[in-house]
Amino acid sequence: MDLGQQVYPADMATNVEIPTTSVPAMLFQSVMRQPKRTAIVAGERRISYGQLGADIQAFAAALQAVGIGIGDRVALMLPNCPEYVIAYYGTLAAGAVVAQINPMSVARELETLLLDSGAVVLVGMASARARLKTCRDRTKVHTLILVEADVVAPVTKSECDEQPGDTYGYDAFVAGGRALNLTPVTFDPSTHLAMLQYTGGTTGQLKAAMLTHRNLIANAVQTAHFFQNAFRPGQDVVLAALPLFHAFGMTLCMNVPLFLGDRIVLMRRFDPELAVDVIEREQVDMFPGVPTMLIAIANLPGLQPERLSSLRLCISGGAPLPLEVMQTFEEVSGCPVLEGYGLSETSPITHCNPPFAKRKPGTVGIALPSTAYRVVDPADHRRELPPGQMGELIVRGPQVMQGYWQMPMETADVLKDGWLCTGDIAVSDEEGYVSIVDRKKDIIIASGYNVYPREVEDILYQHPQVREAVVVGVPDAYRGETVKACIVLKPGAQASEAEIREHCRRYMAAYKVPTQVAFFDELPKSAIGKLLRRALRT
Ligand code: AMP
Repeated sequence: MDLGQQVYPADMATNVEIPTTSVPAMLFQSVMRQPKRTAIVAGERRISYGQLGADIQAFAAALQAVGIGIGDRVALMLPNCPEYVIAYYGTLAAGAVVAQINPMSVARELETLLLDSGAVVLVGMASARARLKTCRDRTKVHTLILVEADVVAPVTKSECDEQPGDTYGYDAFVAGGRALNLTPVTFDPSTHLAMLQYTGGTTGQLKAAMLTHRNLIANAVQTAHFFQNAFRPGQDVVLAALPLFHAFGMTLCMNVPLFLGDRIVLMRRFDPELAVDVIEREQVDMFPGVPTMLIAIANLPGLQPERLSSLRLCISGGAPLPLEVMQTFEEVSGCPVLEGYGLSETSPITHCNPPFAKRKPGTVGIALPSTAYRVVDPADHRRELPPGQMGELIVRGPQVMQGYWQMPMETADVLKDGWLCTGDIAVSDEEGYVSIVDRKKDIIIASGYNVYPREVEDILYQHPQVREAVVVGVPDAYRGETVKACIVLKPGAQASEAEIREHCRRYMAAYKVPTQVAFFDELPKSAIGKLLRRALRT
């Protein structure tokens, strides 16, 4: 089955035209249309589209002045801040490639990513200067740009001179660029790389998805088209709480809203109380988030629902959204949640529950326009399975990456005739709605039976004392693998291991019932808020 066409209204095309232009050119359309409108809010700072456009041009011109051009890699290791947005579009305007790096990376991780990407410029926070300088000296990085926001020790002149031309304070770098003219660069946006998007991929091994300008524009245009009944271009206020260095944040919290001329409100780091303050103060209407953010907001003690009354739509993705979490968040906020799905390799969105047709909680919805998918036999990808049968999800569309950076074998494993093998086990229904059952690699094989962690987690979430639950397989001499439940209880709640197991026994076959239950104050999570299952498999 290709597209779930029947659920698109007759006047809504299932294919969209992708403009043949560059990512910064898309943004500059908003700059030209409404230079005075506020594009970015970050704490007390408000930046208009006009200012944003001027800073992007200056950053790009300054990059050209240090010799950066077509194809060079510029590593960004920044939290959500205006400098991130400027450096991102500025790098692309100079024809260079953005390598996204999690700002929490320790020196060893940073060095690995710099060496892998071959980055020659590194933009990071001045507060991390020691880490950044050590890595600069061990890699090909020749230019270090330090962003000074909130820094106790500002970047000094002598520091900049220590290796002449090597280290710049961000403000001075951009100020220098203002005096220069940006030399226009030309490239073919359908083949020219825009980004290296680092991901654990389908196997947990670090790799970078190569995304072109066309990939990124395609996903922004597909998303805007899909949500055309819900978005109000030029008027929406979007909470950018997801990290921009992650594909989900990059597209939904930056590219889509800025291409549409909306306002984004940047949060340096997600904090539920702060998020509620910001939503209320800035009258945020769009909230793209991961389930752990929804859990944290919905569980805030004494939250007054009217503080969230401006919210019109929450889009959840990145990880499975338990039904209980969705219901609790909707009850508390009064804001509908649409669950979507995607991965770094697809820039990232491929599926979402539609705002124009019925929503099916527990599914990730239907395919975006110009996106085809199939559920196939995991052992033989040529064998397509009918609706109702579980198999591996494969997808095709203009948002699918070109391959993994410098990894032809890994690329050949996942990209076959334009189809991307997602490594996710899914099932579709007759109307084209897809449910993600689990990651292929997360399935637990206990005594020869397949146990899908998500199914067990959904039951655990129904226990009234459970706040968060994750289920993993651990080695077991008798069963091969056995089911372990890792649980965070609600504040002040109490439940014993026996009670949890009894609850599970009531709702599932014996082989799925966790044989081990461990209680945690907090579960290990990635920067975007995904639960780190690997850390729990001990
Ligand atoms: P990343 O490349 O880090 O964005 O991770 C992509 C992976 O996140 C996918 O392959 C899925 O396993 C998972 N994922 C994303 N969205 C969902 C969702 N709504 N439900 C279940 N898993 C999801």
